[in-house]
Amino acid sequence: MTRFLFSLILLLSLTLTAQQLKSPSEFLGYELGSEFTRHYEVVDYYEYLAKAAPDRVKLTVYGQTNERRPLIVAYVSSAQNISNLEDIRLEHLKETKGEGTSEKAIVWLSYNVHGNESVSTEASMKTIYELLTSKSSYLENTVVIMDPCINPDGRDRYSNWYNQYKNTPNQVDPNSKEHNEGWWGGRSNHYMFDLNRDWAWLTQVESQQRLKMYNQWMPHVHVDFHEQGVNNPYYFAPATEPYHELITDFQRDFQVTLGRNHAKYFDANGWFYFTKEVFDLLYPSYGDTYPIYNGAIGMTYEQGGGGRAGLGIITGNGDTLTLKDRIDHHYTTGISTVEVSSKNAAKLNEEFKKFYKNQNFKYKSYVLKGNEDKLKSLKTLLEKHQIQYGDLTSGSYKGHEYATGKSGSMSVNGNGLVISTNQPKGTLVTVLFEPNAKLSDSLTYDITAWSLPYAYGLEALASPTLVSPQNATESAISTTADKNTYAYLADWNSVEDAKFLAALIKEGVRVRKANLPFKMDGKSFERGTLIITKSDNENRTDFAKILQTTAEKFQKNLTPVTTGFVDSGKDFGSSYVQMITKPKIAVLSGEPTSTLRFGEIWHFFEQQLHYPITVLDGDYAKRVDLGEYNILILPDGRYGNYFNESELADLKDWVRQGGKIIAMGGAIDAIDGEKGFGIQKKEMEKDSGKTDPKPYEDWERESIKSAITGAIFKAKVDNTNPLAYGYGKDYFTLKLGSASFDYLKGGSAVYLEKDAKPFSGFAGSEAQKQVSGTLVYGTEGFGRGQVIYMVDNPLFRGFWENGKLFFANALFMVE
Ligand SMILES: [Zn+2]
Repeated sequence: MTRFLFSLILLLSLTLTAQQLKSPSEFLGYELGSEFTRHYEVVDYYEYLAKAAPDRVKLTVYGQTNERRPLIVAYVSSAQNISNLEDIRLEHLKETKGEGTSEKAIVWLSYNVHGNESVSTEASMKTIYELLTSKSSYLENTVVIMDPCINPDGRDRYSNWYNQYKNTPNQVDPNSKEHNEGWWGGRSNHYMFDLNRDWAWLTQVESQQRLKMYNQWMPHVHVDFHEQGVNNPYYFAPATEPYHELITDFQRDFQVTLGRNHAKYFDANGWFYFTKEVFDLLYPSYGDTYPIYNGAIGMTYEQGGGGRAGLGIITGNGDTLTLKDRIDHHYTTGISTVEVSSKNAAKLNEEFKKFYKNQNFKYKSYVLKGNEDKLKSLKTLLEKHQIQYGDLTSGSYKGHEYATGKSGSMSVNGNGLVISTNQPKGTLVTVLFEPNAKLSDSLTYDITAWSLPYAYGLEALASPTLVSPQNATESAISTTADKNTYAYLADWNSVEDAKFLAALIKEGVRVRKANLPFKMDGKSFERGTLIITKSDNENRTDFAKILQTTAEKFQKNLTPVTTGFVDSGKDFGSSYVQMITKPKIAVLSGEPTSTLRFGEIWHFFEQQLHYPITVLDGDYAKRVDLGEYNILILPDGRYGNYFNESELADLKDWVRQGGKIIAMGGAIDAIDGEKGFGIQKKEMEKDSGKTDPKPYEDWERESIKSAITGAIFKAKVDNTNPLAYGYGKDYFTLKLGSASFDYLKGGSAVYLEKDAKPFSGFAGSEAQKQVSGTLVYGTEGFGRGQVIYMVDNPLFRGFWENGKLFFANALFMVE
């Protein structure tokens, strides 16, 4: 056979394969971009490709969502690469030790992390099809990992909604219902969490399962496809300042290389785009920064569109933006990313290795100690990130002290933990643990502080020298008791303890709490100690068994005692030892609450505390008889005058009769001072107006003086208040805004002192004045009931572990 003939046959057979492979339009039976494709149809198409071209597409189901939709990735590469996929993976992973000889580029494309940014998944189908056909040459040296939909529940929520409400044919007038989603919609997943804020905290099942896959591959390049407002042109890398200081020159430069290549195609088509604006690289929990802190080139691409856009919409300047346009743009940047990666495969491999070899951090080890439950939940998070850690049992260490923000020393005796930066995940460790992330600029739209020792409420020290771990022995859990037991005692100082209590209450076990510290058998017991007496539970024959299995499940130590007579403090029959009321909880949702803030509460109850709630939609909540509940939770939101005068009067009556309101963030405005409850907004001194006028172009910089987008402040704690049982004298709070309220008379459980400054992160100078001397968490007795105010959000994104006990105290301890 002549070489020519051979080439001809090869060409023919390739063309044949290409012809045999159905395009998305052919497979789906409608032109791509003329409908929103439901998730199961997307999965069908990917499965079809894996069957039709098994030599070049391999599919893996890596998990399931809350609503039981499958999470999948497709590996797309040349037949030769796909047949050697495991070898390629193992050789590639050596690079995280600074070794290996791999020459393949690993590119990961993640679509539709935000539910209603729904073009992404459609674009993924076009992208995989063209990679397998017209663009297959890029696959010779590149493995493309495609996740067609990170957030299937959120995306189907949108596409099902759109399919129900759309006009036929679709209506491009933005006023039509099909462009106005309403409350139960948006970018989030089932639990109303933003998955693009969850990469580092891993509170959601989608993130947890995806990260396992991610860690198996550790790609060179990761793209997160998004959408923004309909009037915005396309955004692609390079990103804007602030960049985290650990982002390398190569990571910065390669973003520019990619951006220039995308620009070439956009220019040729006359499409508009912008770079170096809005999207910064700092907060570690995004789909761009998290990969960056794992050595990758991480990027966000943003198409104009999102939940408003539907199949087509008239934009601000009178053009019509269609779903087909949106697909073309995301398709173009996706393919261009693969192209650039393929052409620079050698460089990507070399630099990735360098990233892991050249790790030299200011702090070599982070030493932590404190509550066993808190250490345990931190360890669980570290394991999910494949961050190595070790135990510490004794020793004295020098370095930066987190509690004071100064250099000092810390000694460990017993419960200690050390996490060092001399490991593949060293950069990630530094980003998550360093006491104060260094910002190259303070203009950012997300939180600027997240240091894990503060979030977990652990004492910590950052050591400039390496600390070696020591072997610790597991302490055994004791739950034993005998016939003479009068009561069982359990401590109360972590959210794990609240889970234990919630489980007991659900079982119908009656539990008391100590409102004063006491001593017994030479042991001290703090406020909030749970007292579970035999006589309270006389009618339960299986009481001892239930208690024991529940204690074992939650790894909870029980101290049996044979009397209710204490050595000092109040006896168990005292009125200072109160029965805990079984909470019957209603949570407001819908307008006027915020979807994300409601979701945090919903998730806390169902996936963390495992305690039932009734969800009341704002539409009908006011018609519900609150007498059926003893706790009403008002999530953060924009309430305005949500309650009119007579509704407020009813609410007050309900509280007077023993009801408990937990008002969070913006909900406080709905019931504050002018409306009859005790909390008052802080009055600010009027600006004298004598400052010099500032140039117009400086307005943005000027405005950040009043901004706190998320900074850590050290607050004072009155732990004699039941809202603060289980805490020490200080608490590090994540402040997300400058809303400010005066101290409460006698009920200021947590508060900022005068001249409060951020301990970590950025807060504008005016904003600092605003929040100085204000309430963080407080209680107000009102008739027989209570109002609990939460100015800061202890459930924010589900990751501020140390705040959750305040919320549990509001449910169980405040009476
Ligand atoms: Zn987005």
